[in-house]
Amino acid sequence: MEGRCVRLGDTVDDYCSRCKLIMNHGVMAVLEEKILKVRCHTCMGEHPYRHGKTPRRKDPLKKAFDEVMGKIPAAPAAPAAPAHRGPAPRPDDEGPEGHAPGGHGRQDRGDDE
Ligand SMILES: [Zn+2]
Repeated sequence: MEGRCVRLGDTVDDYCSRCKLIMNHGVMAVLEEKILKVRCHTCMGEHPYRHGKTPRRKDPLKKAFDEVMGKIPAAPAAPAAPAHRGPAPRPDDEGPEGHAPGGHGRQDRGDDE
């Protein structure tokens, strides 16, 4: 198909770098039945014929991922505090013995100074 009966002014599909799409292009230059240069009918931008191929073959998801990652300004990670987990029992602080029903064993010591 390619390169057959192509003449100046013909319309071909090619990738436009401005439109970022495969668009209709007018043939601007032909050499030995091969298209050299085209012009986008949408934005009128001229560029070498790309044979209807997109320049990048990357996975679009990967590209989107890179863009998102590039925009994030190195935010600090969420604070992970496994030590403070709420109502975890702390045996050092209040053991069964420290909870004396009378409660004056501690006060005597504190008033010493
Ligand atoms: Zn264009």
